[in-house]
Amino acid sequence: MGILIGIIAALLLAVAVFVANSSSETAPPAAGRTAIETRTLSPSQVEYRQRLQKLAASEPPKKLSPGAMCYEPAMIPDRLDYTCPACNTKTVLANPKPAHTAWELDACRRVLKTIKGLDIELTETGFCATCDPDAKQPVLGVRIRYAANKIHTVAPVTASDLQLIAEFVAGKDKHDTGPGGERPLRNYTKRLAELLGTGPLKK
Ligand SMILES: [Zn+2]
Repeated sequence: MGILIGIIAALLLAVAVFVANSSSETAPPAAGRTAIETRTLSPSQVEYRQRLQKLAASEPPKKLSPGAMCYEPAMIPDRLDYTCPACNTKTVLANPKPAHTAWELDACRRVLKTIKGLDIELTETGFCATCDPDAKQPVLGVRIRYAANKIHTVAPVTASDLQLIAEFVAGKDKHDTGPGGERPLRNYTKRLAELLGTGPLKK
């Protein structure tokens, strides 16, 4: 009986030692873990980053339009009827801030159509009372689809952000601010890096 207990105890000990050894072998080294976490960029994002880097280091354009002097500020309506593209229900946005965002939405939809060569769409979160009944306020964002189904999303965005993207992908060196006239596009490379998901630029 004593021998049997001795054998069982020895076996248990052997199993315990084996388990301890194998688990220490399979634990990934710390260095391997950081390698997995490193973001991988799509080829277009790498190209955009190189172009942004070059733009940031470039000379500003010599001639910039000062903008229209007799510009009349756009009227921002105090209520807006939002028709949801997903469920087709109408939501009345009556408070000034959401109405402003819905007004921004119209501007964003216009500018979005001018962006060429980029798979980009607007994300309209919290606008529809049926789809987002608990939403505090509407938020506009963009979703960019790169090669190999790599998705980059940013929110919130404004119509000026979309204007920056349109100008950059078109290879321009100026940003049209509307009433404020033109500005060198190189002043906006940091924001463009965020919008396009290229990762931070080198200083
Ligand atoms: Zn809806």
